[in-house]
Amino acid sequence: MDQESMHGPDNYKPLPVVLSEAKGVWVWDVDQNKYLDMMSAYSAVSHGHAHPELVKVFHNQSKTLALTSRAFYTNTLGPYLETITKMSGFEMALPMNSGAEAVETAIKAARRWAYRSKKIEPNKAEIIVANGNFHGRTTTIISFSSEPNSKDDFGPHTPGFVSVEFGSSQAVEEAINKNTAAVLFEPVQGEGGIIEPPDNWLPDVREICDKNNVLMILDEVQSGLGRTGKLFAYEHSNIRPDGLILGKALGGGFMPVSVFLSSEEVLQWMNPGSHGSTFGGNPLGSAIAKRSLELLEEEGLIENSRIMGEYFKNSLLELNSGIIKEIRGKGLWLGVEIDPKYIEGKALSKLLLSKGILCKETRETTIRFAPPLIIRREEIDWAVEIIGDTLKRIERKEK
Ligand SMILES: *Cc1c(COP(=O)(O)O)cnc(C)c1O
Repeated sequence: MDQESMHGPDNYKPLPVVLSEAKGVWVWDVDQNKYLDMMSAYSAVSHGHAHPELVKVFHNQSKTLALTSRAFYTNTLGPYLETITKMSGFEMALPMNSGAEAVETAIKAARRWAYRSKKIEPNKAEIIVANGNFHGRTTTIISFSSEPNSKDDFGPHTPGFVSVEFGSSQAVEEAINKNTAAVLFEPVQGEGGIIEPPDNWLPDVREICDKNNVLMILDEVQSGLGRTGKLFAYEHSNIRPDGLILGKALGGGFMPVSVFLSSEEVLQWMNPGSHGSTFGGNPLGSAIAKRSLELLEEEGLIENSRIMGEYFKNSLLELNSGIIKEIRGKGLWLGVEIDPKYIEGKALSKLLLSKGILCKETRETTIRFAPPLIIRREEIDWAVEIIGDTLKRIERKEK
């Protein structure tokens, strides 16, 4: 811990535990204490730690062919792109590494489309985003964040973004003008505190976008790939976006793999030289991502997320704790809103850590629970008992 803070800046403030091993839903610290992972690296470890199938792919692919750059074809990228486009129903996929890079890719693709297909005047394109968003940490992306500490003194900020109230169709409609290229939202705001919009919002935005020839792009880096109990969170609303951004769990808990999915109509303008990444679409990442996608279906992880998520939510509600004000979210992705009169999120995360549960607050008063999608009923029971006991002790002001 001292080495980290001595030799690195304080841009993270980790919980006081030093992890050294993990398997499935469990992790161990350097003193061999065992914890249930209810955070999953912000939903990037949906398959569980060191999934045996993925370890095999990782091992085999890394010693066969790991990195070539896209100056050449490989025998792994094609099969991966075919799998992800078939599974998602989008025509084309542009592979990148981190989530933020895939968001940048979406922004660039939307702007190219806007200038070349929609014929918006040069340099006038606007993208509508939502207040409270989280899309990553690049200079352009933080330009349209509404979180002061994410953007203050990192300017000058990139222009071309208009931020509206999350969940308001009227705000979207009013923000649209002839220069609007796209809307870009998370269907459920993750870092914002697992905030779900009103049910009619996505269908309304879909209609507004259709009417105005505006691309509807969804960032499902955190909500996608089974996290909410469907392959994609937008499926709860029976709509389809024009563009979709995925990351996190796509890398199977091993490595950064992200992608921007869209139609040929949108991606046709990404010609040679316009965009790329040395590591994007690399053989190792492609092999891992392909298998990660297949496993979601083969092992019923999406279904398990739905069933266990509901069970987890109900079990927490049955605690009837005065400290819990609200539980938001679907699938294995819950935001538990706690009453700061009793305890702050950070302090509760620390207490749960000391009792063997890894989780993390988002904002000050929301505890996010996002365990690997392989979690079983008895593991949830174990966690709920500890959470219930902890909350009772807080109410009684005991340790
Ligand atoms: C985590 C996240 C990102 C950024 O992904 P990185 O891999 O950290 O760059 C983008 N969008 C959403 C919704 C996220 O949750």
